[in-house]
Amino acid sequence: MAETQKISVLAIEDEPEIRKFLAAALVSNGFSPAFALTGREGLAHLKARVPEILILDLGLPDMDGLEIIKSLRGWSDIPVIILSARGQEQDKIAALELGADDYLTKPFSTGELLARLKAALRRARRAVAPAAGTFTAHGLSFDAQNRAVKVDGNEIRLTPTEFRLLALLVKHAGKIVTHKQLLQEVWGKSSAENNHYLRIYTQHLRQKLGDDPLHPRFIITAPGVGYKLNA
Ligand code: CA
Repeated sequence: MAETQKISVLAIEDEPEIRKFLAAALVSNGFSPAFALTGREGLAHLKARVPEILILDLGLPDMDGLEIIKSLRGWSDIPVIILSARGQEQDKIAALELGADDYLTKPFSTGELLARLKAALRRARRAVAPAAGTFTAHGLSFDAQNRAVKVDGNEIRLTPTEFRLLALLVKHAGKIVTHKQLLQEVWGKSSAENNHYLRIYTQHLRQKLGDDPLHPRFIITAPGVGYKLNA
């Protein structure tokens, strides 16, 4: 059997302890990591050689990690996993809105890191050939054109708002969609602060899909951040 190709990862992180932890976890799990210690160094690396996935610390010594996402998204769709410290909630949300894929809050375990990396890579590979307007996973099937939603083959009747909410989660399946994004796209720009709409409609949608918020099959809560559809 041919040796499987290692997945290239760039981690932009200034803390030596975290770099050491990432290096050990990545190397022993079949990844080929490279490291940059500053934002400037990271951007230079990204422009020279695009890795398959980026791990990005938001608190860098020379620039805000958000600047890197903004720049990168101008020319690349590679998955970006953010590393944030507690108390950086707003930065984390801003990063997701700029197109980061997922986040890990320090401290995190090797298991969490690998789960996030694998999910982001699976998604990136699937995104290459998406079926237009349809989605099927974990017994949920969504067909935008026919406005049909089924769970385990049984048709589910949704209101137009519930349908729009689900459609947006489907569009970003496997990725966290922030409260603000959901409110703006489903209810309109003026509703960005009306978090209670979202709570109520998510609850209705879950009930109709037969989803248990404590053991979700479809809609996963990212506490304080948003929701994502299990892909
Ligand atoms: Ca840092």
